[in-house]
Amino acid sequence: MRRIVVTIDGPAGAGKSTVAKNLARRLGYRLLDTGAIYRAVALTAQRKGVSWSDAEAVAQIARDLDIRYNFVGDKNHVYLGDEDVSAAIRTPDVSQGASQVSAHPPVRAALLEIQRRVAQGGGLVVEGRDTGTVVFPQAEAKFFLTATEEERARRRVAELGAGADYDKTLAEIRERDQRDASRDIAPMRPAEDAVLVDSSTQTIEQVVESLARTVEERASRS
Ligand code: C5P
Repeated sequence: MRRIVVTIDGPAGAGKSTVAKNLARRLGYRLLDTGAIYRAVALTAQRKGVSWSDAEAVAQIARDLDIRYNFVGDKNHVYLGDEDVSAAIRTPDVSQGASQVSAHPPVRAALLEIQRRVAQGGGLVVEGRDTGTVVFPQAEAKFFLTATEEERARRRVAELGAGADYDKTLAEIRERDQRDASRDIAPMRPAEDAVLVDSSTQTIEQVVESLARTVEERASRS
């Protein structure tokens, strides 16, 4: 069977990361979490004292980014140089920063090439906001994964653990989705040929199973 590129886009908390990881494992494909790249850029800017609103300075950080992944077990570790930043890039603060830096055209341009390079050779599950529309418009299997705002906020609170506040998390999710969907460049939206999947009432296993069947069917077409 051919090894194709599979894109999964959708809003914050829809379950993209978990679904993408499980789908990649199930298919024996590689995994690319594009949100982690935007997060790594935001974290680096913060550490260097560069404002997230400074498009050119942030774009330079994106061009110089030394990012690596290591997908072991069910953890997708992200490294900047030798440092494992997997936890540091997941804070609510860096989430908002990632959303802000991702709205700058020169930042997106710098990161486009990094993403396309990884996809060479196929056999890749990639997740983000614009992977089916802008980064890989020719991908053979595209999905747009979503769930209700309330369900997404509940999941995020469970993920963040003790101390996370539901109302604050819901407000942050709304703010980020609004910014991601309304920006001028590469706004979050389903590709015309994407399969829409609502994960509100399905388990992760059910979602992965249905996506895997679609991928296998597309990959077996000549
Ligand atoms: O998916 P994740 O929540 O890690 O993404 C963090 C932020 O990075 C998103 O809110 C979005 O602004 C940005 N992003 C993007 N395009 C992608 C992936 C993520 O703009 N392909």
